[in-house]
Amino acid sequence: MKLAGHESQLAKKNRPVVIAGPCSAESEEQMLETARGLKKVKGVTVFRAGIWKPRTRPGSFQGVGVIGLEWLKSVKQETGLRTSCEVATAGQVELALQQGVDILLIGAHTTVNPFLVQEIADALKGVQVPVLVKNPVNPDLQLWLGALERLHHSGVTDLGAMHRGFSTLDNAPYRNHPKWEHALELRKLVPELAMYCDASHIAGRRSLLRPVSQRALDLGYDGLMVETHFNPVAALSDAQQQIMPQELHMLLQALKQQNAQV
Ligand code: PEP
Ligand code: MN
Repeated sequence: MKLAGHESQLAKKNRPVVIAGPCSAESEEQMLETARGLKKVKGVTVFRAGIWKPRTRPGSFQGVGVIGLEWLKSVKQETGLRTSCEVATAGQVELALQQGVDILLIGAHTTVNPFLVQEIADALKGVQVPVLVKNPVNPDLQLWLGALERLHHSGVTDLGAMHRGFSTLDNAPYRNHPKWEHALELRKLVPELAMYCDASHIAGRRSLLRPVSQRALDLGYDGLMVETHFNPVAALSDAQQQIMPQELHMLLQALKQQNAQV
């Protein structure tokens, strides 16, 4: 399978592309505070925030919904950062595009479902927006490829893949085992596809962010995503893996220094 000519425009400009922002949009203040901090972090060009959250168990915070799209707009207006959020249904695609979201993410719990991916692909016919497709929750390369193909067949021309690790029986010490060889296998099959590493959902904890990010850069990944919050311990989701904007700055600096020594 070849997605010829579909190399991500996003990743062509500045490598690595750094996507940062909170796991979930929680309030306009939380979004703007975090975005103001991120604006000062060299290398960050895209802001992320989950608006609709696919949670493993019921009873967890499910996201603020459409109001969060207004807050993303405020972030763009104030900081000039490009914005991104996860979409999991055709309706969410339409709402996100109406509100000017710049980049769409397909989450791991959606990539796993061909019906949903097809619905999203149909909603994107004739629309030019970059789409980053996370690997499915389970280590199934064909499902990941299938989701990319469905979008490609719908005419999405700016596609990228995002590696967020896989759920296996023993993920230790990670939250989601990286199984780097699976992601590299996808890159072998579709070499023109930009590859992003969602270091936060692989690591699941702050202490692993650096080695995971470094490994991704050493493997030649085009971009990194790191969940960032102005007050991580108070986050409504994924509190244990989010870092403050100034910590992201230090992380990115450390990665550069290591690279320079290689
Ligand atoms: C997220 O990015 O916040 C998220 C829900 O990720 P994933 O789809 O990788 O579980
Ligand atoms: Mn998260």
